[in-house]
Amino acid sequence: MKFIFLTGGVVSSLGKGLTAASLGTLLESRGLKVALQKFDPYLNVDPGTMSPFQHGEVYVLDDGAETDLDLGHYERFTNSELTQFNNLTSGRVYQTVLEKERRGDYLGKTVQVIPHVTDEIKNRVHAVAEKSGADVIITEIGGTTGDIEGLPFLEAIREFALENGRGNTIFVHVTYVPFIKAAGELKTKPTQQSVAKLREIGILPDILVCRTEKPLNDELRQKISLFCNVPVEAVIEEIDVDHSIYEVPLMLQREKMDELVCEYLGIETPPADMSRWESVIDRIIKPKHKVKIGVIGKYIELQDAYKSVYEAVTHAGGANDCAVEVVRVDSEDIEKNGGLSHLEGLSGVLVPGGFGERGVEGKILAAKYARENGVPYLGLCLGMQIACIEFARNALGLEGAHSAEFDPKTPHPIIALLDEQQNVTELGGTMRLGAQPCRLAAGSKVAEIYGTDEVNERHRHRYEFNNAYREQFEAKDFAFSGTSPDGNLVELIELKDHPYFIATQAHPEFRSKPIQAHPLFAGFIKAAHEHANGQ
Ligand code: GLN
Repeated sequence: MKFIFLTGGVVSSLGKGLTAASLGTLLESRGLKVALQKFDPYLNVDPGTMSPFQHGEVYVLDDGAETDLDLGHYERFTNSELTQFNNLTSGRVYQTVLEKERRGDYLGKTVQVIPHVTDEIKNRVHAVAEKSGADVIITEIGGTTGDIEGLPFLEAIREFALENGRGNTIFVHVTYVPFIKAAGELKTKPTQQSVAKLREIGILPDILVCRTEKPLNDELRQKISLFCNVPVEAVIEEIDVDHSIYEVPLMLQREKMDELVCEYLGIETPPADMSRWESVIDRIIKPKHKVKIGVIGKYIELQDAYKSVYEAVTHAGGANDCAVEVVRVDSEDIEKNGGLSHLEGLSGVLVPGGFGERGVEGKILAAKYARENGVPYLGLCLGMQIACIEFARNALGLEGAHSAEFDPKTPHPIIALLDEQQNVTELGGTMRLGAQPCRLAAGSKVAEIYGTDEVNERHRHRYEFNNAYREQFEAKDFAFSGTSPDGNLVELIELKDHPYFIATQAHPEFRSKPIQAHPLFAGFIKAAHEHANGQ
């Protein structure tokens, strides 16, 4: 088994996760089994309790683990099977170490960062290696080299390399080569310093991935090679992509990164066959048609808050040969200024998941607009709850209908807490989480779109549709077209007399891949395209 540790230098947001995932794509295309894993040095036990302002989206796995969004890249780019073991935070490490200490597992020893914390970190690499049976384990260390909180992780991977044989482990450092406008030059000093920082800790990077806006010329590559102690062919250029993040694996392949990784790790395989990946990217970046949809949210200004939703939309665009222009609409703007003018000209309305009352009324207005004007609507989690509240208020005349989450005293709690959630007081890891089965009603639109009668989608919510209202809804045009197998929980709804008004309590965006667009998203973009063309 071979191990690749990926660190980041100079600044955050370099796209380390994308680089790790792209390397995974290339190694898989060489016929290798790859497992990816992310270590996050912050003290939260998992990102589940963090606001999107802090951390972007919380990515949910099949087993219900609430993880870092980089795991989303891993799943979209590779077949790596991810579980709670594939994301580890300092908080979780300390929690485990302290539990062991309280149990007396350390037999009276002084409990210390080295070896107890570092051992725990190394155990996680071994755990993923064992569980996955992969040929190559790629472990990404979050944060930036030089952060105090990252030190135990770097120490742990240094020890790991020593213990597992140098030829079995390599270090890849993702660094930044800034272009200084006033000087008209790319600068290598931050990279030199970042590598020096790693060397202080005892880590000698084998490969440097240089994030840059401009191409690195030969002279610059030589300089980085000399000062950072790597062969010149191990200076990999990763320039900003023009069109799509899915081009990154192809770029790294052109730089021969996968070849080098295999050489350093002593792995013999045929070259990566990227033809399938190339054809998918072609459709994403050279589409024939164009369609404009609105994503109505309250974290609209944040790049990463709805990451998987935006990616799923891109995949669905590819599947329909359509460029999708996403108009990010702040739901509070719909409430405050100008109301529905924000929605005019859109061929589709998408309401993603969310928590808290802010912006909810704007989302309800958007759902009303889509329903009444025959504009395709896709609701995800909160987006389904919104669709139900809107229908209750405006089609069933249930005044003041709401979710108990936003108005605990509503006369019509269309969305309410399950009994089992009534007494939950802790926020971390206590929602209905992870993959849950759902039976689709025969003859429903969703059964046709999915092409099956049972699906399994990931969840992250506390509130549910209130069954006391089901009959009233069904008496109208509203269908509960997917439920939990026992019929108790509403999973999918649709309007019968509407081109595409579909919403789900789940988060299907977590299952979409560039090479396999999610049916609900693909159907939505198809409907939006037809709407735009007046069909
Ligand atoms: N806030 C809602 C709930 O907890 C929806 C959650 C979500 O959209 N992920 O049920």
